[in-house]
Amino acid sequence: MTPRTALTIAGSDSGGGAGIQADLRTFFAHGVHGLVALTAVTVQNSLGVQGFTELPPDVVTAQIKAVASDMGVNAAKTGMLASAEIIRAVAKTLDELGSAFPLVVDPVAASMTGHALLREDALEAIRTELFPRATLITPNLDEVRLLTGISVVDTASQRAAAEALLAFGSRWVLVKGGHMTGTPECVDLLSDGREFISLTGPRYETQNTHGGGDTLASAITASLAKGASVPDAVAAGKKFIERCVAEAYPLGAGVGPVSPFW
Ligand code: PLP
Repeated sequence: MTPRTALTIAGSDSGGGAGIQADLRTFFAHGVHGLVALTAVTVQNSLGVQGFTELPPDVVTAQIKAVASDMGVNAAKTGMLASAEIIRAVAKTLDELGSAFPLVVDPVAASMTGHALLREDALEAIRTELFPRATLITPNLDEVRLLTGISVVDTASQRAAAEALLAFGSRWVLVKGGHMTGTPECVDLLSDGREFISLTGPRYETQNTHGGGDTLASAITASLAKGASVPDAVAAGKKFIERCVAEAYPLGAGVGPVSPFW
């Protein structure tokens, strides 16, 4: 039986915890065949990102077109896009493909260790070029602040952030609350502007959360590839990432990865 396919347009993590490495194993765990358009090669380990080199935009475009024209794409996600030029190339290519599949945009700006994964002018390009084409965007609280200026501290500001982000044109937004401090639970807010769905889960005491955002976005993308609705895909993705965080392990002297082993 030929499995469904999901395309990740993202960067490589030499430490194997985030980026396309996290995406591919998450697709595999969902029984979905992973396709890749590599955008950048990062040099990193558990202590942080030492640097990155981006690929030429036309190479990113060519990878997307090669797999889409021959193998077919049932859903796609973007992760680290590195530069405004790559973002514009991806947006143009998605337009040419006719937006025939759901698109999850994870607006990756920096690693949790605080290293930039995006050139400075590129955030604006994500907002204007990719958000209007997205089925769902999945910012964490740092990205929400960068994109809207809103600091999410409670449910009211989380809702205000969701509304401000939807104004950029995506169909759905998931405002992830995982980085909110001082709450015993981890509350994410999913909205399309009419429905406001609060998803509450346990908060695990671990410092090993490297790759968590990528893993959640790719789990959601895999479910969308299999035909799930956005609310069902997000609910399933949250359960998936909870298990990955619960089983996260130390590796290296810094931040270990969320675990695919369970
Ligand atoms: N490296 C790459 C290639 C990524 O795509 C990401 C996140 O998307 C990271 C590093 C940062 O991961 P984290 O913030 O979980 O450490």
